[in-house]
Amino acid sequence: MRRTQVVVIGGGQAGLAAGYHLRRLGLDFVILDDQATPGGAWQHTWDSLHLFSPAAYSSLPGWLMPAQAGQTYPDARHVVGYLTEYERRYDLPVQRPVHVSGVHRDGALLRVETDHGPWHAGAVVSATGTWWRPFLPAVPGRAQFRGRQLHTVGYRSPAGFAGQRVVVVGGGNSGAQIAADLVHDTELTWVTQRPPRFLADDIDGRALFDAATARRRALDQGAADTGGVASLGDIVAVPPVREARDAGLLKASPMFERLDADGVVWADGTRASADAVIWCTGFRPALSHLAPLGLRGPRGHIPTTGTRALGEPRLHLLGYGDWTGPASATVIGVGRPARDAAREIAALVL
Ligand code: FAD
Repeated sequence: MRRTQVVVIGGGQAGLAAGYHLRRLGLDFVILDDQATPGGAWQHTWDSLHLFSPAAYSSLPGWLMPAQAGQTYPDARHVVGYLTEYERRYDLPVQRPVHVSGVHRDGALLRVETDHGPWHAGAVVSATGTWWRPFLPAVPGRAQFRGRQLHTVGYRSPAGFAGQRVVVVGGGNSGAQIAADLVHDTELTWVTQRPPRFLADDIDGRALFDAATARRRALDQGAADTGGVASLGDIVAVPPVREARDAGLLKASPMFERLDADGVVWADGTRASADAVIWCTGFRPALSHLAPLGLRGPRGHIPTTGTRALGEPRLHLLGYGDWTGPASATVIGVGRPARDAAREIAALVL
């Protein structure tokens, strides 16, 4: 039987941040990641993706992300390089590719079932992200549409869309960035549920992090909800988005009502023929491996206090969204909840 004090599931930034703090506290642990190479979701994003914060504001605990030459906002390849080096620098015990299929209660321990056999541990950190659980809204006619449909996770570059009629759905950062990516090469229709809300041009991820932290503090102290990140807007005006918007190329239409075989149709009967629809409609936490523990709350989340699951004190969740710590789904924001989780785990297992 393979046994360790802590199993961390997921070797993206959240899993690595957990590993950094577990190591500092002298715990015995392993990180299991189902990808062939380091970098978590960053190795799968579209080619032109740039962070919405400068490098130094996109750092994990212990080591600042180096700046990328010629770029204020590093690209995804740079993040993959940073995470790869981070693992090496702190000699983090990542095993990959190892896929975790389920976490089970097994007496005093938790049993982590994988495609390489089970592990037993006194505590588990789940840090599996959201990338592998893309969300598609239930829009009528989706199955009838004869063109190509893909989600953000399937989009890499304008190659393959040149000259086509493309509908991009979504008013968040992914929708705006992918629309800006396609605007010069395609006949683009950008569709958003409400008019796009661009953050002020001088606001980037740094302000988002501050807003998320201020909100959490206010809520913790019983003060009024500050509105957090949502109060600032939805879209960071990163340079390509700003340029397309300022050139008048990034105009959004309201959400259509349905699809048919040929394209999308609005409630008033207006229609747009389309060769492809790209759904930039978000993600959900990838938690199916935790199903055997029976912890899901009404919104699909697992209720937590800090990062600890309310229904299973040996389980911590890291990185999925604000419900596991303010801005914990960002590179800079995951460090603090990772530290808190490691401390609680040390108190439990040491
Ligand atoms: P991931 O990077 O997804 O890592 C989780 C790892 O766990 C993956 O390797 C996955 O394959 C693995 N895994 C999943 N399930 C299992 C399993 N059952 N068994 C074993 N391994 C498993 N944040 C910022 O700070 N700045 C930004 O500019 C920014 N831009 C973003 C742009 C986009 C399009 C998206 C989607 C997110 C962005 N984020 C940004 C948010 C966030 O930083 C990333 O989503 C980041 O990848 C989250 O890291 P993570 O470690 O939580 O998850």
